[in-house]
Amino acid sequence: MKKYNNFINGVWTAPTNNEYKEVENPTTEETFAQVAYSANEDVDQAVEAAKTAFPAWNNLSLEERTGYVEKLLAEIKAHKEEIRDIIVEEFGAAKTFSESGQVGLAIDEMSATVEAIKDYNLTQQIGNTKVIKEGYGVVAAITPWNYPLNQIQRKITPALLAGNTVVVKPASDTPLTAVKLFELAEKVGFPKGVFNLILGSGSGAGNYLAEHEDVAVVSFTGSTEVGQGLYENAAKGIKHIILELGGKSALVYLPGGDLSFAVKKAMGTILNNQGQTCTALTRLLVPKDELADVEAEVKSFYEENVVIGDPADPNTLVGPMVSANQKKTVLEYIEKGKAEGAKVLVGDKKPAIETGHFVTPTVFTNVTNDMTIAQEEIFGPVLVIITYDTEEEAIEIANDSIYGLSGAVVGPTEDAYKVAKQLRTGNIFVNKSERNPLAPFGGYKQSGLGRENGLFGVEDYLETKAIFLED
Ligand code: NAP
Ligand code: MG
Repeated sequence: MKKYNNFINGVWTAPTNNEYKEVENPTTEETFAQVAYSANEDVDQAVEAAKTAFPAWNNLSLEERTGYVEKLLAEIKAHKEEIRDIIVEEFGAAKTFSESGQVGLAIDEMSATVEAIKDYNLTQQIGNTKVIKEGYGVVAAITPWNYPLNQIQRKITPALLAGNTVVVKPASDTPLTAVKLFELAEKVGFPKGVFNLILGSGSGAGNYLAEHEDVAVVSFTGSTEVGQGLYENAAKGIKHIILELGGKSALVYLPGGDLSFAVKKAMGTILNNQGQTCTALTRLLVPKDELADVEAEVKSFYEENVVIGDPADPNTLVGPMVSANQKKTVLEYIEKGKAEGAKVLVGDKKPAIETGHFVTPTVFTNVTNDMTIAQEEIFGPVLVIITYDTEEEAIEIANDSIYGLSGAVVGPTEDAYKVAKQLRTGNIFVNKSERNPLAPFGGYKQSGLGRENGLFGVEDYLETKAIFLED
């Protein structure tokens, strides 16, 4: 079985303890590769390399750094099918979604940032003062498995452009996409030490990396629980921290809106990627007197669209969950929903496929917002339908969450915009609007700290210095 190593100081490096961990294909449940299971010494080496490389990288002009990042983007574009197939194999996203929603999205967002940075000024003159923006130092980028390429892209593109050097620790379930990215970075030929990869466990190597005294910025995407721990630890070193955490976003359907579009949009976010998306619109809020119509629409959408199976098959919409663990978590939530009195509208059947971590997409109705399935992030193909009487009540329910990452309002344009403004969440789609790669992405409340994407993303990786000069 092929073994993959860390990338430290420009060199593929075996872990000092010589330990490796197997990578599983969630569709076949077969292990097909081994990756380094790093020790603290490996993390020390990677951080040392990044620290050493920092001054020279930070001193390059923005144009020079952009040149390197642009070359990496070109390599990603040239290898997009290969990356798509790695994501299908190690993560289980359907091939069509891997192509558009995984690799395609990463390319769009990276291209947008690279273009936007060309008009950006790192220095500003204010009276006698030169205000300079520059990198912080070493960034620890710790990423989850649900978007194995783009979660890394959203951190390394702005961090490198801003003048930081980086150590990436990807999720243990999806390390091979990260390995591929670093093979491409090796071809680009970044100055050694600028861009490093550490493979290994989150609670081991990941935690040690985040706590390392020579790490200046911790940039984390993942669970709120781990994010809270990292935030506490960052306080010890007064480290800058960027957190992209969970969500439990609402789609508010208003009377007079396009009902079939509302259903399609909410269902799309729980079916694509098997609902393993932090921005998934997992609570569908509908007027009480339209519930029967909504339920009928959900049923017909489900019957016409849900194809569960091998993610490599282009006809498949729903692949397996990333791991046995994630499948177990989702099934436990479905049981909890039933126990708390919610009614299964569709789904909750044993999938016909014997092998693979498959979960049948499930939609609950008769849900109240205080139920566990309406409050906690399930991170699986589960949607809950909640009814409301008035617009005020809809807003109150949507905002009654510890999270505030995404949201959507479908209804007459003016009403929809009015409601969107009152939702306490970082991103909101009005009707058929699309995501803008230059728009800030990030969460209110416990969904996180800071923003990713475009210039908003770059600014989160910039320190600011004022140099006062004699007149
Ligand atoms: P997680 O445990 O938060 O893992 C995310 C990343 O952090 C992985 O690279 C993980 O490494 C690492 N990590 C774990 N514990 C760490 C620690 N103590 N210190 C430093 N790094 C650590 O998330 P998960 O277990 O993969 O997923 C659990 C839940 O998180 C999901 O069910 C979902 O609710 C949420 N989630 C949210 C997002 C999002 O985009 N907001 C993405 C994924 C998951 P290992 O992989 O080696 O554990
Ligand atoms: Mg974990």
